[in-house]
Amino acid sequence: MIDNKQFYINGEWVNPVTANPFEVINPATEESVGTTSMGSSADVDKAVTAAVAAFDSWSESSIDDRIALMEKFIELYEARAEEFAQLMMLEMGTPIRFSRNDQTPTGPGLFQSTIDAMKAHAFERPSMRGGSTLRDEAVGVCGLITPWNWPVNQVAAKVAPALGAGCTMVLKPSEMSPLSANLFAQVLHEAGCPKGVFNLVNGDGLGVGAPLSSHPDVDMMSFTGSTRAGKLITQASVDTVKRVALELGGKSPNICFADADLESAISYSVENVMSNSGQTCDAPTRLLVERSVYDEACEIAARVANNIDVNDPSQDGDHIGPVVNKTQYDQIRNMIQIGIDEGATLIAGGLDRPEGLDKGYYIKPTVFSNVEHEMTISKEEIFGPVLSIIPFDTEAEAIQMANDSPYGLAGFVQSGDPEKAMRVAKKLRAGTISINAAVYDYDVPFGGYKQSGNGRENGILGLHDYLETKAITIA
Ligand code: NAD
Repeated sequence: MIDNKQFYINGEWVNPVTANPFEVINPATEESVGTTSMGSSADVDKAVTAAVAAFDSWSESSIDDRIALMEKFIELYEARAEEFAQLMMLEMGTPIRFSRNDQTPTGPGLFQSTIDAMKAHAFERPSMRGGSTLRDEAVGVCGLITPWNWPVNQVAAKVAPALGAGCTMVLKPSEMSPLSANLFAQVLHEAGCPKGVFNLVNGDGLGVGAPLSSHPDVDMMSFTGSTRAGKLITQASVDTVKRVALELGGKSPNICFADADLESAISYSVENVMSNSGQTCDAPTRLLVERSVYDEACEIAARVANNIDVNDPSQDGDHIGPVVNKTQYDQIRNMIQIGIDEGATLIAGGLDRPEGLDKGYYIKPTVFSNVEHEMTISKEEIFGPVLSIIPFDTEAEAIQMANDSPYGLAGFVQSGDPEKAMRVAKKLRAGTISINAAVYDYDVPFGGYKQSGNGRENGILGLHDYLETKAITIA
């Protein structure tokens, strides 16, 4: 059993002000794997006080010193990569191969892309006409709140640019994934992070997230999670006029034209949705297919989904694992039932448990055809392994349906015609567009339009979110 009850404040591991233990449940076994603590506003106060005290010296540290710390972090992280992979498997059920190959490398990847951005950025430069000096400085003390679905990725996407910009910070990771965040803090400590620069308080949204968001000494909130919580954090930040950077939910469209290589386009589309058990914010969960190839596309999708194995995450292999917890499990099943009730056709998966898995929050890769644009499963984020396939007749209709959503996180286009694909990509109201299964790198800005958020993470724009620009003009 893992003891994860302490918080990391002012360079030390400390007990919560009030003991409030919370079991970490392995979603594959439904059994406890360790204990963490639910913090309170008193813990937030202690952590913010430490971050305020550390701000002057860290914000004035040299870029070279910050890079040295971050490079040391990468070195120590890579030496403990297997521990990160195992902890993410235990806390959120990500299969061990996926955890090793996809989840774990995001930590060093995002630190390195921030270091590259820091080296490329002129923190001090003349104004456009040369009369003033423009200086980028740390925005201040940052509150960082992250979800559980890509646990290390989300933490690194905030901590790296905050450190690089010279900010000090308090991290509140998801209460569902406190184990990998704890190891992250250990590695940062071993790398020589000065005391108070990085602090970690575990807990839930109401107990820790809310007091952090409304705290008068916190200058910026950076949040990744649901649009619901993003709105509450924005409201809690209003009185103190904090900067609020939001990375929120999605219902990303994937437009597949008849001229695409159908077999590979549909295989990619289904596998992308089911990967990480459908728990990825930019998953292409609305597959819009040109009507002339619609039936064939649905056949391929059902075959591909039925061939995806669901299994124990501790086993090596390409299978998917369980979803994160009982609440998500019930919500996803409820959405599958709604799809059936609203008249969509279930062509793969459904409500039955995968064979041989009597315990754990497992859901079969599920595909619906004959989905209409107005149906609930086409409109709402499900955050599970569920794909909706919707027919379209014209390019204009596909673009209209793709953009008719409160979300705008990502978009996908499948076509054999590069000009058409680019024309459609430019029309989609979303922050990242992938054409024909392209995968973007860590330096590409990641963030949403509309209710998918207002920030950009990764690389130079990720760094920018944590900087204030001061203009100094001498008479
Ligand atoms: P969630 O919003 O329930 O929780 C996210 C974090 O916010 C957790 O740490 C939680 O404790 C905290 N929180 C909840 N309510 C809060 C409040 N009132 N004040 C302060 N903090 C609060 O989301 P989740 O279930 O952890 O993650 C899934 C969601 O995250 C999905 O909607 C997904 O699309 C989104 N997501 C977005 C991105 C992105 O980059 N845009 C990336 C990953 C996940």
